[in-house]
Amino acid sequence: MQYKAFIGIGSNLGIPAENCEQAIRLLHTPPGIEVIARSSLYESEPVGKIEQDWFVNTAVAIRTSLTPEALLNALFKIEKTLGRERREKWGPRIIDLDILAYEDRVIHTTALTLPHPEMTKRRFVLLPLSEFAGDYMHPVENKTIHTLLQELPESPQVKKVLSTS
Ligand code: ATP
Ligand code: CA
Ligand code: CA
Repeated sequence: MQYKAFIGIGSNLGIPAENCEQAIRLLHTPPGIEVIARSSLYESEPVGKIEQDWFVNTAVAIRTSLTPEALLNALFKIEKTLGRERREKWGPRIIDLDILAYEDRVIHTTALTLPHPEMTKRRFVLLPLSEFAGDYMHPVENKTIHTLLQELPESPQVKKVLSTS
């Protein structure tokens, strides 16, 4: 069986745009994952720990034969390949790959929460996602990505990166 999932990607160390592009390239490599859509790159103001550089964020849609848990492990491996060291939550990072949603699954385990618990509050997640998944119905909120995005305040700022190399 093939399942559809959305992955959120972020970086604010090194050359963030390049790290995001590299993460998308690496997402093509594990068996059982096929990238079927991607968004533009966005620059976003850090939230939470604000004394750090702006982030670059993007999102992709995949088709996968992996279970959500196996998919998360595959994402951890890609983070490791790109040199991520697990340090403080919300601190600076070379790459961050989150499962935003997996079909309409709702999961609450210590290792995995689906849909991603913060996605509805994050413009830097909803904006890229809206490029290809605007009609996706959030299985808990029962609202589409478009509607969730409209309900969010304009700040913190998220801007489309106009030139990508
Ligand atoms: P946030 O989850 O708020 O975006 P973060 O991405 O900085 O914060 P991490 O330090 O990367 O958090 O991850 C902490 C843990 O979150 C991971 O070890 C993972 O097991 C767990 N986790 C739970 N749900 C998810 C999910 N949907 N996608 C990725 N990781 C998840
Ligand atoms: Ca994250
Ligand atoms: Ca993460």
